[in-house]
Amino acid sequence: MRRRTCVHLLLFVTNLLALGGLIIFSTIAEHKRYLYRRSIRPLEEPYCERCPTVTESDVHLFFNCPLAQGTWSALGFAPNPAIVRQPWLLCLSADLPEQVHVDVIPLLLWHIWKARNAMIFDHIDSTPRDIIRRVVQDIDAWSCRFNQLKPDLLVWKTWLQSCY
Ligand SMILES: [Zn+2]
Repeated sequence: MRRRTCVHLLLFVTNLLALGGLIIFSTIAEHKRYLYRRSIRPLEEPYCERCPTVTESDVHLFFNCPLAQGTWSALGFAPNPAIVRQPWLLCLSADLPEQVHVDVIPLLLWHIWKARNAMIFDHIDSTPRDIIRRVVQDIDAWSCRFNQLKPDLLVWKTWLQSCY
């Protein structure tokens, strides 16, 4: 019974993460249409705001764009773009607790996405340090919701703080 529950939980989390990857991918396409409708950017202009000659894609935005590269580099990690749609496979450090891994990695991706939007809409540039600091702020804000896993989350927080 317990093993079956674990398998169901694993399948649920896997499906949830796959859905998250799909949402990120379709969000970029939808966001381009939104920028076109608002007359912010022509529909045929699919370029990254930071890299005017590079077509924006999920791989570029989250891994190859200088801001993303700088963020991952600050964390001592060289991600494999082949796993961009499987962010739960990103392993930043073997010493970090696995239990909250699926909570922190999406936060990093979320703040890279928000920095991209701030660049487009508000012309506010961010640094890798800004990204990591915002993730730490979110961990502070949400850690009260983690109950038993709060110590694990705080290990991640301390580690992230050591990276900037
Ligand atoms: Zn770029």
